[in-house]
Amino acid sequence: MDIDRLLGRAAERLSKAGSTSPRLDAEVLLGHVLGVDRTWLYTWGDRAAPVYERARFEALVAARAEGHPVAYLIGEREFWGLALSTSPHTLIPRPDTETLVEMALKLAPAAEGRLLDLGTGTGAIALAFASERPGWQVTGIDRIEDAVSLAIANAERLNITNVRFLVSDWFSALAESFDVIVANPPYIAESDPHLMLGDVRFEPLSALVAGEGGLADLRRLIDSAPRYLRPGGWLALEHGHDQSEQVRERLKAAGYREVASHYDLSGQQRVTLGRMAG
Ligand code: GLN
Repeated sequence: MDIDRLLGRAAERLSKAGSTSPRLDAEVLLGHVLGVDRTWLYTWGDRAAPVYERARFEALVAARAEGHPVAYLIGEREFWGLALSTSPHTLIPRPDTETLVEMALKLAPAAEGRLLDLGTGTGAIALAFASERPGWQVTGIDRIEDAVSLAIANAERLNITNVRFLVSDWFSALAESFDVIVANPPYIAESDPHLMLGDVRFEPLSALVAGEGGLADLRRLIDSAPRYLRPGGWLALEHGHDQSEQVRERLKAAGYREVASHYDLSGQQRVTLGRMAG
């Protein structure tokens, strides 16, 4: 069977299994197995699919049909143009989170400074920022040791050296202060039906779910961050599409200034900022 037909059949199977991007999933999985990019698959679609690789591909398609995220099946996801290793110990980086990176870069016009990324997971936000601001010292922390190991491996593989990753339960292992603190904490309510759909079913709940209707960690970070921010320093938080008002109110109540929310790529208010007095 040629590559094109193999992809067509896999896409059909994934579509029936409920994938919202069946053809893309099939292409990414086959590209991974063959060690080629998607352009190669279009160019050589009439070539016969090699038998050994075909069996591996079919196994991945079967796992994908059961719902396993593509990023876990191939162990990789691109974020901010960086190829990041992924594992079931961490959240899969989302395109929406690039909004948080954009905001962090706007808040960091200086050539040098210190940024902290809380709950770094794969290291996505810290690494994206560090790659754009080589003069900054970037710290990423996570409570989960496996996440910290993964983030360190990602930094090494990408050769990004102005970043360090530590095990810390939010601020517990930190003593210094920062110019910018960012976080994409868990913010989904336990009862949210969204948790039963798609990739999130396979992701660690510790990275997704928070008490108080999803707001517990956001509130805790807002209340603790001032002790770790330099005068004039910024806190930037990702949150759920319906949480921006509550996050803004909490920031104002905690004494932050210049509080404002920003939209993600899908038009949702996704990131909210606040600043310490200068
Ligand atoms: N944005 C993610 C989702 O809705 C959740 C990420 C998070 O809880 N930090 O699937």
